[in-house]
Amino acid sequence: MNTEATPHCAALGFDKNRIQQTLSLLGLDAPHEKVAASSLLPEIIPERVDEIINSCFAIMVDSDSFELIEKDIGTEPFRQEWKYRLQSFGKNFTTPGYFEERLALAAAFAHANIPLGALQLPSFLIQQALIASLSDKSDLNAHKNRVLLNIILNLTALDLYLSAEGYRLPELYELEEKLDTLRAEASRLQQKAWTDELTGTMSYRKLMESLEHHIKRAVRRGHERSPLCLIMSDLDFFKKINDTYGHMIGDLVLRHLAARIKSATRDFDMIGRFGGEEFVVIMADTDLELAKVIAERIRLGVMKTPFHIKKFNIHITISLGVAMLKPGESGESLLERADAAMYEAKRRGRNCVVTTKEM
Ligand code: C2E
Ligand code: C2E
Ligand code: MG
Repeated sequence: MNTEATPHCAALGFDKNRIQQTLSLLGLDAPHEKVAASSLLPEIIPERVDEIINSCFAIMVDSDSFELIEKDIGTEPFRQEWKYRLQSFGKNFTTPGYFEERLALAAAFAHANIPLGALQLPSFLIQQALIASLSDKSDLNAHKNRVLLNIILNLTALDLYLSAEGYRLPELYELEEKLDTLRAEASRLQQKAWTDELTGTMSYRKLMESLEHHIKRAVRRGHERSPLCLIMSDLDFFKKINDTYGHMIGDLVLRHLAARIKSATRDFDMIGRFGGEEFVVIMADTDLELAKVIAERIRLGVMKTPFHIKKFNIHITISLGVAMLKPGESGESLLERADAAMYEAKRRGRNCVVTTKEM
């Protein structure tokens, strides 16, 4: 089925199978039904098309919904639609196109808030007119008469069913739109929750989630084959920077520091802001020796050029602690050990790297 040409069918799941199922439930799936239906036209929907449609409209004018139809659909297009339907009654009713036409009209009615009954009334009226003209046909034998009566009833049932189904469409579309909006909003909020606003690095929450995720992965692959290291870094004398230059510059220093750490590591090394002036780097597939090399590279990258902020050249150093995940260890414990190593670096005079092995 070409879903592009039949969007309403697609939205309601009327694929080839469901169309077949529907026809079978309504007793419209036997091959002879199709043959019988195609003989409806020459047999009983003859020259009287206009007459039938006129009498339908005479009744409909009195219905409560007619004003709405006039206003939103237009009586002439509505009349043409039913004339067309009567003229093609029983034609192509097994095709997606047939289903689509009926679903589309029902969707338009629902969209205009015209009651479903206003759409189903013409179906009933046409059904009655056809049954009446069937009984006028004295030249048909009893069997053929019964077959035609059957198909008229079943095709009307199909039309009523499709109008009820199509009536759900606007609500369905609206719901989908709402869901899309909600999804977009949720992902925006998640992105916000995952990012540290000031520095653009990972937030504390995301950092902890990432750590848990990589610990699980390291455990699955075996610690030996897939070592995991964590660097805890802390800006030296941050309080002095704030006192000297003010908090606005202090914030900018943190932003520059995050950028320096990023530019000294690979894009898939994970960097997050842990606290005020603390940054964490998580490195998968990295052993302690390599992590120390990278920590040294970060330390040098920060120290070697002063931060140029506004009109100031601010000299910055950081202290770093490095720890490697032990078998069975939790993320919290790994963080604590890296933190202890970082404090040891502070104790040893700052601007240096200490690994847990060297404590
Ligand atoms: P190297 O600097 O001695 O690094 C050896 C290995 O350590 C690298 O092997 C890589 O597996 C790992 N490694 C080093 N730094 C990082 C890091 O910041 N993050 C992560 N996740 N892993 C790191 P690899 O990839 O085969 O590289 C071999 C050599 O190629 C490196 O030896 C280095 O000399 C050079 N190299 C590779 N990528 C870069 C880069 O982006 N910049 C520079 N300057 N050199 C690079
Ligand atoms: P990147 O992978 O995001 O790495 C950013 C910076 O981290 C590098 O800047 C370098 O300072 C450091 N780094 C990362 N991996 C290594 C490493 O294995 N060894 C050493 N010594 N340092 C490393 P850099 O050197 O200016 O490179 C900038 C970008 O250029 C890298 O971004 C990467 O995309 C590319 N690049 C540089 N060298 C290599 C290389 O040898 N192989 C590959 N595949 N890419 C490289
Ligand atoms: Mg990078």
